[in-house]
Amino acid sequence: MNPSPVIAYFSMEVGLEPKMPTYSGGLGVLAGDTLKAAADLNIPLIGVTLLYRKGYFRQRLDDQGNQTEEPEEWYPEEFLEPQRLQVSIPMLGRTVHIRVWRYLTQGVNGYDVPVYFLDTAVDGNDDWDRSLTDQLYGGDDFHRLCQETILGLGGMAVLRALGYKKIKAFHMNEGHSALLALALLEEKKQGEGLGTVNIEDIDAVRQQCVFTTHTPVPAGHDKFPIQMIRQVLGDERSNFLETFGCFVEGSLNMTYLALYFSRYINGVSHRHESISQDMFPDYPINSVTNGVHALTWTTPPFRRLFDRHIPEWRHDNLYLRYATCLPLEEIIAAHTEAKRKLLAQVQQRTDIELDPAVMTIGFARRATPYKRADLIFADIERLKQMGSQVGPIQLIYGGKAHPRDENGKDMIRRIFQAEKALQDQLKIVYLEEYDMELGKMICAGVDVWLNTPQKPREASGTSGMKAALNGVPSLSVLDGWWIEGHVEGVTGWSIGDNWKAESDPAAEISSLYGKLESLILPMFYQQPYKYAEVMRSAISLNGSFFNA
Ligand SMILES: *Cc1c(COP(=O)(O)O)cnc(C)c1O
Repeated sequence: MNPSPVIAYFSMEVGLEPKMPTYSGGLGVLAGDTLKAAADLNIPLIGVTLLYRKGYFRQRLDDQGNQTEEPEEWYPEEFLEPQRLQVSIPMLGRTVHIRVWRYLTQGVNGYDVPVYFLDTAVDGNDDWDRSLTDQLYGGDDFHRLCQETILGLGGMAVLRALGYKKIKAFHMNEGHSALLALALLEEKKQGEGLGTVNIEDIDAVRQQCVFTTHTPVPAGHDKFPIQMIRQVLGDERSNFLETFGCFVEGSLNMTYLALYFSRYINGVSHRHESISQDMFPDYPINSVTNGVHALTWTTPPFRRLFDRHIPEWRHDNLYLRYATCLPLEEIIAAHTEAKRKLLAQVQQRTDIELDPAVMTIGFARRATPYKRADLIFADIERLKQMGSQVGPIQLIYGGKAHPRDENGKDMIRRIFQAEKALQDQLKIVYLEEYDMELGKMICAGVDVWLNTPQKPREASGTSGMKAALNGVPSLSVLDGWWIEGHVEGVTGWSIGDNWKAESDPAAEISSLYGKLESLILPMFYQQPYKYAEVMRSAISLNGSFFNA
């Protein structure tokens, strides 16, 4: 039996298994990795999130790279245990009923961390309310506010109904769950109403809340107009929020709400701490750099390699520091196996045969403009020349654009255009349906992991950490975690060298091409053992440290 949980971790999305489509990208995968790490460490924690019956979406790409979306079919019964209990919360001027499903995350020592999924598809709710937990990030702002109400207020009701009374810390993973603070206040007032809340009450709630912010640009934070708040939450809650100054310019900003009610606030890398501190000068911001769940993201050939030489790594990832003892031949052999598996997958999905001897560059993440997936195609002629004179290159892409992110969709089309422009000289494949499983295969099976975010928009980034665990070095703009993980020529390579400056595309393009041409391709083709040493240091220095 686990002891009574003392931490409740709330997240709008959670990625625990590839086939459970309750996540869209880095935020959800990080949440899942954090829950798994808590189980490994016997931390008395529980997770709270929503059950999306239509998932995020299934991605289809036509031969021009136009993305269309379909609902994802899946069966929660296959992964989750329905719980008997049902709760209801007042919202929208009526009562919305919520039922609950449980997932048990099993740690390496046999300890479980339960994750509760909230579901409004129950009898007693009308069709609109039943659809509230249909789709992740699928609706308009009104729908989103309702979902966040289910997560924050509904999540608290569920915890209490489950009998969890001794929770000391409520962790908001991003501002989506900030309304949980209102639930804590209402509970504290025990029916006296929010009209009587005083500053001591607020302080008492603040002592219980912790907030992790993930978004380095103001436009990325959820904001809802006052009238919408009134409609969804009712007059009493709305008046309270107004009295305590939670509305800014007529809107409720969920990040401000979370900041206001938290005793501890952190960003997700050192750089992101300082960016967030500038955005929110009234609050002290700390940082805890993201990490990935090492076992989840290490592919079988590397698991076996580590088990042979550093068996302690499964219980304490820091032991990967001793990857320095791994024979280079064995790293090369494990990587060859991971690469073969990826290329077989590419062939199966697209009928395109890539050459295992060719330097393969990987890029897979959410398709959104600041990630600049097409930066490497800035000078097609130079790329062609590099391929014919220095050494051949091939590229593997993956990533979904949010259904309403037209610029993200354009970016996918531009990769398809580059693919056509480079057809004879350089192979490019864009794989559909990027998810945790494909992500793992790509970041382990390529030879270098490319990342070109526009500074300082990459709050942390985690896919490079997954690559490092599989001996794949990064070639990345100095932003987010890479500022901390990068040792030039040792753990990988930087694109540009001044992490403080805003992105200068021309300089970054020149640095990207320059390093490929003069360092990376020559080393890969002429000094494979030197390249394997970089792979080894990526494991030893990055894999051992940037884990959950
Ligand atoms: C790790 C992961 C991400 C995050 O990738 P970044 O490059 O860090 O943005 C996004 N989506 C999936 C499916 C992932 O596994």
